[in-house]
Amino acid sequence: MNYDRLITDRLRAIDASGIRRVFDLAAKLEDPINLSIGQPDFDVPDAIKDAACQAIKSGFNSYTQTQGIATLRDSVTRRLASEFPQTLGSAGPATLPDDQGLLITSGVSGGLMLALLTTVGPGDEVLIPDPYFVMYKHLVALAGATPVFVDTYPDFQVTAQRLEPLINERTKLVLFNTPGNPTGVVATDAVCKEVAELCERKGVLLISDEIYDEFCHEKVELEGQLRCPSPLRYTDSAIVMRGYSKTYAMTGWRLGYAAGPKPIIEQMTKLQQYSFVCAPSMVQVAGAMAMAIDVADHVEDYRHKRDKTVERLSPHYELTVPGGAFYAFPKVPESLGLTGAQFVEKAVGRGLLTIPGNVFSERDTHFRISYACDDATLDRGLDVLVDLAQG
Ligand code: PMP
Repeated sequence: MNYDRLITDRLRAIDASGIRRVFDLAAKLEDPINLSIGQPDFDVPDAIKDAACQAIKSGFNSYTQTQGIATLRDSVTRRLASEFPQTLGSAGPATLPDDQGLLITSGVSGGLMLALLTTVGPGDEVLIPDPYFVMYKHLVALAGATPVFVDTYPDFQVTAQRLEPLINERTKLVLFNTPGNPTGVVATDAVCKEVAELCERKGVLLISDEIYDEFCHEKVELEGQLRCPSPLRYTDSAIVMRGYSKTYAMTGWRLGYAAGPKPIIEQMTKLQQYSFVCAPSMVQVAGAMAMAIDVADHVEDYRHKRDKTVERLSPHYELTVPGGAFYAFPKVPESLGLTGAQFVEKAVGRGLLTIPGNVFSERDTHFRISYACDDATLDRGLDVLVDLAQG
């Protein structure tokens, strides 16, 4: 059989070689200093594990309703209503406004796939701030739409000024991500406001991927509380997506949610019914109780690691201070005359694994490190980077 004939152009267009190359290099190293991993280095809190085990043992193993179980939906609703009182809290502390919908998804990835297949197709353009989370451009391509990259170097703020010139009658979506992967940059409150207003004015759907919302070190005082800036504070026509993968280290458990305008969430729900069906049942139970768990110690730990990373690298690299997530995205010093990919290869020669900027960008001038690792590993990695910067 000619299997090649069976592969669609859609899939052929997706090139997964960038990250794979790093993993191939990694496989050859004996004791790599691994600063390439995009997930927390702590384990799922015991209470969450117990809740999932208990759910399995008590027989909560069947399909759930596509939209998610009531206890989890309630916890999420309360969280959103209290965090966004003007836009999502107007109906009360435990109810979303009538025109808003909520869908429990199989991770933020699952939510993104549903949202893109629901809203864009051939002929449509999607604005993707560059650098971007790798999945975005491939999901847009899979949906048959055209990614339009919005260069945000060197400060990585996705301002209205950068977005607006690229909006035309074909533009349907803006994929916004704060705190951002790969840069760790947190959008300022002013940027969140102007982007929310721009998208409303232009009739463009804003998707705000806030999977790193808990890992935010640049909170600002809003409604009398310290909060991470979000465009949702200024619009009820955007979709917010959040998840459990990063906050509770549940990356393999596949849980997230999407909230936003009901007509869109309803279509996404229909598609979930015929694709993912539902998020894993026992994970939904665990997710509902996870929201009561405090991860402040981990956030504090990552803040120290962030500070150390900035302190050690800033004298040697151009580095926009990452206000959240657990990444930093330094520029390869021009004096070295290397692309991001060449620099990463050189670092591999010293036993250090990072990810070249061209995996997340149309440029190849930077590299991503993750500081979600133990202190000894981070120290070793930073030593190598300081050394490499000297040439
Ligand atoms: N969005 C961003 C910005 C991410 O970094 C990731 C995970 N690397 C995801 C979404 C996907 O997360 P999930 O595990 O919830 O699918």
